[in-house]
Amino acid sequence: MLYTFENTPQLAALRVETERVGDRIEFEVLGPERDLYAPLIELYYDWFNRVGPIAVHEGRNVYSLYLPPIPSGGDARLLEGIFRDKLFNLRTPRAVTIAVTHDCQCRCIHCSAEDFSESAEPLSRDDIEKVVSAGLAMGMTNVTFTGGEPLLREDLEQLIASVPEAQAVSKIFTNGALLSPERAVSLKSAGLQAVKLSLDSADPFKHDRLRQRHGSFQEVEQGVSSALEAGLLVGLSTYATNESVKEGGLGHLASLAAEWDVHEISVFDVIPTGRLLHDDEALMDELTRKDLMEQAVTLNREFRGRPRIVTQSWTNSPSGFAAYFGCLAGTYQFHVTAYGEFTPCDFTPISFGNVRTESIEHLWNKLAAHPAFCDHRRECRMQSTSFREQYIQPIPEKAPLPYPIEKLDAEST
Ligand code: SF4
Repeated sequence: MLYTFENTPQLAALRVETERVGDRIEFEVLGPERDLYAPLIELYYDWFNRVGPIAVHEGRNVYSLYLPPIPSGGDARLLEGIFRDKLFNLRTPRAVTIAVTHDCQCRCIHCSAEDFSESAEPLSRDDIEKVVSAGLAMGMTNVTFTGGEPLLREDLEQLIASVPEAQAVSKIFTNGALLSPERAVSLKSAGLQAVKLSLDSADPFKHDRLRQRHGSFQEVEQGVSSALEAGLLVGLSTYATNESVKEGGLGHLASLAAEWDVHEISVFDVIPTGRLLHDDEALMDELTRKDLMEQAVTLNREFRGRPRIVTQSWTNSPSGFAAYFGCLAGTYQFHVTAYGEFTPCDFTPISFGNVRTESIEHLWNKLAAHPAFCDHRRECRMQSTSFREQYIQPIPEKAPLPYPIEKLDAEST
């Protein structure tokens, strides 16, 4: 596939011919400035060739459910975004999470959407499609529909269809309760690439208790099976705590995921947010993070690529993607709540404005220029003591979330 980079005048003459050869990606850089760009492109594909794909999906290699397959138009845009960011200092959003509803059948203790203000009208289909199209125009390659529970929206398929496969991948985060075989087929037909099902524990009783929904574990298992049967890529999303790491919870989860034939497991560090916003005690400590990363390395060796375990501890560490990615808030991604509030990520309850009254471009530039988000940071801001002292602790208890950045800035001066 021939990649061109039309959104960036500096790259107008650059061409990259990309081909999948089994598990590998072969490429050739073309154009008068090829010697200038080839080293970065080589670095990029070398990484994928080293880790290998988790799946071959519709004739293309998939390395993570968070990334477009290779070769694809989405991958060309991702590469373009790296150039824009790294070489030309043009901050480009590449991922968005959009909460398409606040409603949910579960009442999870750790939910990041809990305590979000419900005062406004939920986003309409038109509102959401405008966010998608504005983000795509700016270079986005990954659109994730979340909630609440996104499958509660009857027009979810239309929303998915508004993401052109040639530009970006779409995925949903779901609790699995409504992921029947028929709905999975319908989502796949609409163009969905992947589903991520939330699983808090490999122990059914514990999972149901944490979700406060009897039968939820079984719904996840059935949802995984429906999604795989429909030809979707399937991941599990979970979170680690100091206790769960000590108990070796990841090993049990990985064995279960392998049994269910899941492609990927994402392990987020527990982040005090939502109902637990002011519970800094819950933060994971450094030793536990190290332990978690070591467990993931051992399990990845054991399962050899399926499921692949990706921990947030690793992506935010020097050995992970941190040199390039690190904290994604405002450098790589943004989040839109079910009521249109524009926030740095789905865990950061700080609003930069509302997408119904301000353009995405304006909100993104405002976020990217803010002193708390204008620089690249390795560590998760929501887990950083200094960030929490300045931007989270001043949020009054019981204040409707997300809290406006202007108020926080005014209070800190
Ligand atoms: S603050 Fe940064 S690292 Fe933490 S969850 Fe949000 S984007 Fe990810």
